[in-house]
Amino acid sequence: MYELKIVSQFAAAHQLRGFEGGCENLHGHNWKIEVCVAGKALNPAGVLIDFGELKQHLSEIIDMLDHKFLNELEYFNDSYPPSSENIAHYITEALQTKIKDPGIMVSRVTAWESENACATYIPNNI
Ligand SMILES: [Zn+2]
Repeated sequence: MYELKIVSQFAAAHQLRGFEGGCENLHGHNWKIEVCVAGKALNPAGVLIDFGELKQHLSEIIDMLDHKFLNELEYFNDSYPPSSENIAHYITEALQTKIKDPGIMVSRVTAWESENACATYIPNNI
């Protein structure tokens, strides 16, 4: 398996209702997002997927999150709150939909909500 990683970031607000901790009140984070894709076969140029294509897909997803109040977006709700865990899960699903090559799987997405705390989603199909 080859695995590629790209990194991006966005700033947004969220509120985790019923959460007994710092995230219960409305506040913001500068999330750092690490995305990994994996696959077995390289193309004739010797690469798994063009970094430019991968970055373009991710930036389209990040643009939908950046400077938003995440609780108000259509894909989050009270049963799917915008925690770092669910943000990582959402980006995984959204990115996989954009990648047309069936041989390339999103292997993990990590959402850093601070310099020392992150949540990672790992699909179980890889
Ligand atoms: Zn928070």
